[in-house]
Amino acid sequence: MQELAFFWHRRDLRLYDNTGLAAALASGRPVLPVFIFDRNILDPLPADDRRVSFLHREVERLAREYAAAGGQLIVRYGTPEQVWSDLLDEWPAARALYTNRDYEPYAKARDQALAARLAERGLAFHDFADHVLLESAAVRTDAGAVYKVFTPYKNRWLSVIQPRNLAERPSQERLAALHRPEGPPPAVPSLEAMGFREASDLEVPPTHVPDDLIARYTEGREQPAAEGTSRLGVHLRFGTISIRELARRAQALNATFLSELIWRDFYSQILDQYPQIVDRAFKPEYDRIGWRNDAAAQADFAAWCEGRTGYPLVDAGMRQLRQTGFMHNRVRMVVASFLTKHLLIDWRWGERWFAQWLLDFDLASNIGGWQWAAGTGVDAAPYFRVFNPSEQARKFDPDCRYIRRWVPEFEDLSYPRPLVEHRWARERALATYKAALGST
Ligand SMILES: Cc1cc2nc3c(=O)[nH]c(=O)nc-3n(C[C@H](O)[C@H](O)[C@H](O)COP(=O)(O)OP(=O)(O)OC[C@H]3O[C@@H](n4cnc5c(N)ncnc54)[C@H](O)[C@@H]3O)c2cc1C
Repeated sequence: MQELAFFWHRRDLRLYDNTGLAAALASGRPVLPVFIFDRNILDPLPADDRRVSFLHREVERLAREYAAAGGQLIVRYGTPEQVWSDLLDEWPAARALYTNRDYEPYAKARDQALAARLAERGLAFHDFADHVLLESAAVRTDAGAVYKVFTPYKNRWLSVIQPRNLAERPSQERLAALHRPEGPPPAVPSLEAMGFREASDLEVPPTHVPDDLIARYTEGREQPAAEGTSRLGVHLRFGTISIRELARRAQALNATFLSELIWRDFYSQILDQYPQIVDRAFKPEYDRIGWRNDAAAQADFAAWCEGRTGYPLVDAGMRQLRQTGFMHNRVRMVVASFLTKHLLIDWRWGERWFAQWLLDFDLASNIGGWQWAAGTGVDAAPYFRVFNPSEQARKFDPDCRYIRRWVPEFEDLSYPRPLVEHRWARERALATYKAALGST
């Protein structure tokens, strides 16, 4: 029986420029690609989750691309543990499994357990850096420590990055090494079979952005109404585009845009090295903050989620999020600051709400963004910096174009009065943070 190698797609739903796939295809063994709709991740999600519709569409596209290249993508629905147990029984000639690394705590534990089980059955587990440009170990201080402040991290990142880190991986060119089973390709499980239905309001941004947008990013990115950002977050999250290809363009076109991609690496390495930040403040003393959590806080949280705080920029952002799955970065900062500082509500409530609605939800960047806004994280905004949402609107949406789009009634009598008065809320936040941090 001919020996085989598996390649497991996770956050890398593409055939081109795929590090782990290129390595598998060069291994000398025919490659059998696999994707698993993971029940551990999918089971808690609502039936019309936009991300599941997106993922399903992209997996079907990937399966068609494999078929066109003469291979077959095996797509299963279940827990990875069960699916791999089945696949190892079905393909006794498999000798190795290749994949790209994922830095989230759940994924790391899953892969560690799988590698151990494979070893027991005599299979090798090979994983590769692909989702980020530089992994944590590649960007360290002279003393080998993890950078916790962005600017020195970025300077070191820029000094160590090499053309080989950004070079295209020859996966597409090696597809002749795919395993070519007889017969029709196995079916991709339908959304319905997995308990989901097509989200009727899914709008996927294009995978390609023009050079011009990247070149003008520095000016275009600050005004939410201008739509001057790439909207590539969802594609970077699921690997439907290559981060290296984007970084090469950024290097040639715009240092500010490249800097945003470096933020993504920065937060990824922080989560990788400090997994406790998923539910604890990076700075432990901030876990002493007395967040409100009574019935009044619940009611304020509901008003924030539904976009009826009485602050038009906050409400516009929250409505954009629910209706489209996207929110502009400036507005993400404003709504997160408003929840944690003005309403004194735990950043974890907001983080979970974003996790539920963002099409580009990414644990590392979301935790990073939320802890930044709450002042509890690495390189965070100092706690005494409290955005004034009305000032932010004047500065970044001066003609109310963005606000008008999402909150058309904002000048009407029917529009709610502000939940809290800015100066009063600011003082309350400062006093609460001070009380918590007083002894440090
Ligand atoms: C509270 C809060 C929560 C956030 N949650 C997420 C999240 O779940 N997923 C996510 O990808 N980003 C998150 N961000 C970062 C940022 O808001 C989004 O990456 C960006 O708005 C996505 O829009 P875009 O694709 O048009 O980005 P662009 O502005 O075009 O930037 C290009 C890419 O660079 C990366 N990037 C840009 N800014 C950041 C940043 N500050 N941190 C990390 N990566 C960045 C993203 O991958 C983005 O797609 C969050 C920010 C805040 C303040």
